[in-house]
Amino acid sequence: MAAMTTTPPSRYESQKRRDWNTFGQYLKNHRPPLALSRCSGAHVLEFLRYLDQFGKTKVHSPSCPFFGHPHPPAPCPCPLKQAWGSLDALIGRLRAAFEEHGGQPEANPFGARAVRLYLREVRDTQAKARGIAYEKKKRKRPPLQGQSKSVGVDGSCSNSDNSHHETDDQGVIDHVNLLMGS
Ligand SMILES: [Zn+2]
Repeated sequence: MAAMTTTPPSRYESQKRRDWNTFGQYLKNHRPPLALSRCSGAHVLEFLRYLDQFGKTKVHSPSCPFFGHPHPPAPCPCPLKQAWGSLDALIGRLRAAFEEHGGQPEANPFGARAVRLYLREVRDTQAKARGIAYEKKKRKRPPLQGQSKSVGVDGSCSNSDNSHHETDDQGVIDHVNLLMGS
């Protein structure tokens, strides 16, 4: 797993620590309180949905005239959410932090299939709603070759999805707001 090496370690590490603290705070404030050891993929999804209220990324509903419009010319009442890139990066950091804190990889709730599927759905939805294709950005496109998509047996994630992404947002969740929330 050398996927995250593009981020300078110190920044990544401190971000990871903040993310981990935020999640711990979330567990503490959870009603009923939730122990990390009992945390499942479903709880992680709950956490991700909870984060949406602090999002700053406009995601247009299909009925919005700006649906699929990357740069809408006017305001609209569609909700703000966390950008997919931010969530994806966040989950990557939390997943690593969980194991660094002694969690068993098999029991890692951030690696749960439900979480992967959710992220993929968010990506697809936001790609449509915002008219942005979330492709890995290559420095320079080599001349187009036939699209070779590697799909795993049974369509299970080929993992190319989990490598480091260029995000259109800063890829960082705003922790100040989060912790003041309760
Ligand atoms: Zn809209």
